[in-house]
Amino acid sequence: KEELNIIQGALELRTKTVEDVLTPLNDCFMLASDAILDFYTMSDVMQSGYTRIPVFENERSNIVSILFVKDLAFVDPDDCTPLKTITQFYKHPLHCVFNDTKLDAMLEQFKKGKSHLAIVQRVNNEGEGDPFYEVMGIVTLEDVIEEIIKSE
Ligand code: ATP
Ligand code: ATP
Repeated sequence: KEELNIIQGALELRTKTVEDVLTPLNDCFMLASDAILDFYTMSDVMQSGYTRIPVFENERSNIVSILFVKDLAFVDPDDCTPLKTITQFYKHPLHCVFNDTKLDAMLEQFKKGKSHLAIVQRVNNEGEGDPFYEVMGIVTLEDVIEEIIKSE
């Protein structure tokens, strides 16, 4: 039974998309790019439990960098270091994908690349204005694996 579920899940990687499994932007734990790494901010990050924290500028849909919790290893909260100092030092690349990316293709990208988190965007062509890229949320390797091993 368990094996059948896993096979089923693996087969569905070809039809399901990242949009089906992403964590919506509103549920993402993120930091503002002008944040200061004081005791409170650093405690928030630790308590969130997440390893990778998207960093946004002005509005949450504008993700400009990503902070890894391990980047904080040498940061002393008493120094009140600006977050920008850290993100500009490490400059982790942002990995963006479109909402219609199939999960098998996403898994391949995660296997090849170094990053296990991608930012999901779509083309928004509703409304009057020109179409624009809109960030929908984030997807991680864990979300794809979860789709394979989930049991009903
Ligand atoms: P790791 O397991 O590599 O330490 P993690 O626990 O921070 O990383 P993942 O295991 O990659 O995160 O993902 C677990 C779930 O949490 C997934 O559904 C993923 O989309 C979600 N997730 C990852 N990072 C964040 C974040 N910053 N805010 C909200 N949800 C997140
Ligand atoms: P993350 O990608 O979430 O930052 P990580 O890079 O530290 O975590 P994993 O991605 O979990 O580690 O594992 C990558 C590979 O490194 C795996 O093969 C794992 O077994 C190996 N590995 C993890 N930690 C250690 C360690 N302390 N010593 C040696 N190998 C390790």
